[in-house]
Amino acid sequence: MIRDSKQRQKNVIVVGAGLGGLAAAISLKAEGFDVEIVEKNERIGGKLNFTEIDGYGFDLGPSIFTLPQFFESLWERAGKRMEDYVQLESVSPHWRNFFEDGLIFDLYEEPDRMKAELAKLEGDPEALWAQFQAFLTYGREQYHLVDDGYFKKGLDNVWEMLFHYGWKMIFKMDHRNTMTGSINKHFEEPHLRMIFEYFIKYVGSSAHDAPGYMNLMPVIQFDYGLWYVKGGMYNLARGLGKLLDDLGIPVRLNSEVASINKEGGEVKGVTLGNGETLTADYVVCNMEVLPAYRKLLSEPPAFMKTLEKFAPACSGLVIHLGTDRIYDQLAHHNFFYSNNQSKHFDSVFQQGKLPEDPTIYLVAPTRTDPSKAPAGHDNIKILPHIPPINPDKPHTREEYMALKERVIDKLERMGLTDLRKHTVVEDVLTPVDIERMYNSNQGSIYGVVSDWKKNQAFKAPKQSSKYRNLFFTGGSVNPGGGMPMAVLCGQKVADRVVKAEAKRA
Ligand SMILES: Cc1cc2nc3c(=O)[nH]c(=O)nc-3n(C[C@H](O)[C@H](O)[C@H](O)COP(=O)(O)OP(=O)(O)OC[C@H]3O[C@@H](n4cnc5c(N)ncnc54)[C@H](O)[C@@H]3O)c2cc1C
Repeated sequence: MIRDSKQRQKNVIVVGAGLGGLAAAISLKAEGFDVEIVEKNERIGGKLNFTEIDGYGFDLGPSIFTLPQFFESLWERAGKRMEDYVQLESVSPHWRNFFEDGLIFDLYEEPDRMKAELAKLEGDPEALWAQFQAFLTYGREQYHLVDDGYFKKGLDNVWEMLFHYGWKMIFKMDHRNTMTGSINKHFEEPHLRMIFEYFIKYVGSSAHDAPGYMNLMPVIQFDYGLWYVKGGMYNLARGLGKLLDDLGIPVRLNSEVASINKEGGEVKGVTLGNGETLTADYVVCNMEVLPAYRKLLSEPPAFMKTLEKFAPACSGLVIHLGTDRIYDQLAHHNFFYSNNQSKHFDSVFQQGKLPEDPTIYLVAPTRTDPSKAPAGHDNIKILPHIPPINPDKPHTREEYMALKERVIDKLERMGLTDLRKHTVVEDVLTPVDIERMYNSNQGSIYGVVSDWKKNQAFKAPKQSSKYRNLFFTGGSVNPGGGMPMAVLCGQKVADRVVKAEAKRA
């Protein structure tokens, strides 16, 4: 509930209606700020976006919903209940994994079903189950450590971490191993190694470069569930839109911010593309940090250099297909593994090359929601992770389309017979489209990369180091990309604004 006593007579402009922007706007309104959102696109949601073509409803962005508690807490801040706005459906199996050697292996939340599935692998099922549980126990310890400070307190850098956790706890966090290193210590079975490595998908990074504590990601799924938003992922944005209406938060759509106006160490507001100027006591920017400093604040190269460590996470080739038949072997979420996953990670994250044989994520939402395709037809979204745009040597559209053909070849080889022939609708987004649509940094789909050597897996801080009343929110800011993280980020940004305001009062 927004209490009158909280009215602060201070106004905030939020630049961008992505999940981080929406969460910040709602949380700040609940704290009594006067909030307005300015969004360049025709609808709210940012990368949480959709299109409809000939009866096929495609979610253009996220398809996997995890960590509902971080969404519920946003509604709680506003004195509302999430279930009155958004309904979730549990998805089972979580993932279906296809390997080139013919193995098809499911991940289940229910321990008995998961244990039974392990019998498909070579080796003693009891021993594999023991390894599986030991891995989850270790992952759970990592999750709770990270949740306690980095998530719940919204910590932003090593010093805040040290202050919160102390040295002892910091050393409990698995940062001396890579994610892959720790997986390999727990498992010898090659399929399990590949599956657990690919949990890094959730943050668009490489399991070879991310620290071991990122092995908390399977726990997110096994302990807190994997969900679908009833009626389609975009219903989450619709639910948030209803919450904005109920709270009286105005949104200007089709309004691109051209500059954030600065004066000394402060910002004064924003100027829109049409020349209109809006003044503000605080600006919260949901445009990604690097493009915002470069384009909206025109910061000099020396300053931009200090931000280089916040390099973009991967981009994606997002292929939407409508087929005139159903591929029964698909579950809702599917992974088709590379023959050489190390090479895949190396191509995408070290060499900046389009992978020859990528690991491919494929979502077939009609398994949960038949409304997403005409009866008897399939709705298939295919997402290989690929490098962000290299501005010095961008890939051509022909190169992206050649990758698309390699991907379809692989899927046909691995069982989706005549996928090309049965495709009646096709829509492809390249990194160039993704950059254009959302102003993301080099077409990144998850904000900043989680790479121990580059940034110790930290994203940019929530408060600007240059302008005291400028804050950032979303996937390029701690705790990073993915829907739950962006929504959590917005809430934590609001807490920082409240603190900054208290300091001035
Ligand atoms: C293909 C794809 C698949 C994904 N899959 C998943 C998944 O399964 N699960 C998951 O949890 N996450 C997934 N993600 C990631 C998730 O979508 C993002 O991490 C999250 O939605 C990002 O939120 P954000 O707050 O960073 O804002 P963004 O979504 O980046 O939105 C930023 C907003 O700011 C607006 N904007 C930018 N510049 C300006 C300006 N100058 N003026 C006005 N407005 C501006 C943009 O138009 C946009 O609306 C996926 C993303 C993509 C693209």
